[in-house]
This record gives sequence, structure tokens and C-alpha cells, in this order.
Amino acid sequence: MRLYTTHMRGEKYLGNSESKELHDLDKVKQQCNIDNIVNSGNEIPFSTLKEALSEGFIQCSHCLNQINDQSLKTDYLLNNNL
Ligand SMILES: [Zn+2]
Repeated sequence: MRLYTTHMRGEKYLGNSESKELHDLDKVKQQCNIDNIVNSGNEIPFSTLKEALSEGFIQCSHCLNQINDQSLKTDYLLNNNL
């Protein structure tokens, strides 16, 4: 469910500035506790996964499939020599 809050303008991804976890709002689960993040004002909008990973966010295990997105992650790690 896309969000329109203080920081969000309908972007696909939401990062938690406190935990550095990244959520996919199209697949978000109850365990993601998005409401808590938004209520704390910790939501950071991202349009692309690559952008969020480059900011150091990690994929939420509940809503972001780590296997399907592994190629993106590998690209990111290679590009940054990590
Ligand atoms: Zn999540």
C-alpha cells in the first residue's frame, strides 16, 4: 500500500531511518510495522531498490524477497568494492 505522509509521496520503497531496514510497500506485511515507522517520523522514501541499497539500507526479510533481488545487491557490492 503506497503512502502519502510527511515524507512519502507514493514511492514504492520505505526505509526506516532508525533501523536502516527497507520495506516494499507493494508487498508489505503486518510484521513490518509500517505504522510505527511513520508515527515516529522515521520513514524515508525511495523509488528504486538500488538507490536505497546505495544509502546503506538493508532489505526487510518480511516484504523484500532477498533471493530475487540478490543480483541487484551483488551489483551494488561490486560497484562499491565491498
Ligand atoms: Zn518489510
